[in-house]
Amino acid sequence: MAADRAYLDFNASAPLTTGARAAVVEALSMPANPSSVHSEGRSARRLIEEARRDVAALVEAKPEHVFFTSGATEAAATLLSPDWQMGRGALRMARLYVSAADHPCILGGGRFAPDQVEVIGVDRQGVVDLEALRATLGRHERSEGLPLVAIHAANNETGVIQPFAEIAMVVREAGGILVLDAVQAAGRIPLDITKACGDYLILSSHKIGGPKGAGAIVAAADLMMPRPLITGGGQEKGHRAGTENLAAIAGFGAAAREARDGLGRMEEVRALRDEIESFLAASDPDIEFFGSGAERLPNTTYFSIPGLKAETAQIAFDLAGVALSAGSACSSGKVGASRVLKAMGRGDEAGALRLSVGLSTSREEIALFKTALAGILARRSGRERAA
Ligand code: PLP
Repeated sequence: MAADRAYLDFNASAPLTTGARAAVVEALSMPANPSSVHSEGRSARRLIEEARRDVAALVEAKPEHVFFTSGATEAAATLLSPDWQMGRGALRMARLYVSAADHPCILGGGRFAPDQVEVIGVDRQGVVDLEALRATLGRHERSEGLPLVAIHAANNETGVIQPFAEIAMVVREAGGILVLDAVQAAGRIPLDITKACGDYLILSSHKIGGPKGAGAIVAAADLMMPRPLITGGGQEKGHRAGTENLAAIAGFGAAAREARDGLGRMEEVRALRDEIESFLAASDPDIEFFGSGAERLPNTTYFSIPGLKAETAQIAFDLAGVALSAGSACSSGKVGASRVLKAMGRGDEAGALRLSVGLSTSREEIALFKTALAGILARRSGRERAA
């Protein structure tokens, strides 16, 4: 990142790593379809299978349980389905249970009808209400089909980590299936699908330093899968048809390998985030941090500055060379009231700013942020004095 800009928006999309870029470039020069049986086709296939091993290793899964998609949104749209297959038999999920602070790709309910989706609340820190989940699943009518639960492992706005081992236990006790949206957690906290991470994980390449446009469904076992969303040529063992996005998948694999190697250095990222929060608190003791009373990802802080609308502050930061988010990145580029804050019973129209960093964040970028903040707060004081 050039010294005159600081990119502090890793939860929206992390910068492409050097290794991922090299893997993408290598794959782009390959002419063949990975399904072709000639030597060129087999070379392309090797890249995909290597990426599958790397993505599997990030969450301690078996490579044969990884299915590539175009991103986490497609993975969610595939998994959130009432119609599943177990071997040759059909299996029905009667209802979908999601949390109020989930990403829109989960909250939207996938292929469930709206009246088949139930939303579980979160507390003021944004943590899923386990008792409400247990009680709701207790009322599930098993004769109509299994309960499917989909919840994020870590929140994209607050960075709050859900108690997913406990959630997995509650879902298992209710005889349900758990889909864990691990998009923000992967590469930032250790995840082991063999140990209480749910039955299916959703991953996204561009949140861990890979290219945009690749994601994965990772299954804990090969017993059952949803009816495919995209049918056709039978790629990905029939679970996701269409010629694989070779370059994006190769980059995803390289990023997953680097993310796994980087897990041991997350305390460095936490130190950076903590330094930012200390600076914010020292600059204005009334700055409010959201979710900070819960366990959080090491890279995220979510805060509101009194007297400043998040939207206005974001523009001011951008003009001062700092890229951060007001709420989550939105496809339309609009900034609205945060759904997550609303679900937490917090925040007002002013909204909140999300700052998220990573291993490649430099001291220069942090310095630029501090200078920008000082300038923004000085202008706010000037306005207040003039008023
Ligand atoms: N889930 C979470 C928690 C996210 O933060 C995002 C992206 O913002 C997604 C899912 C969707 O990921 P993708 O961009 O790969 O579709």
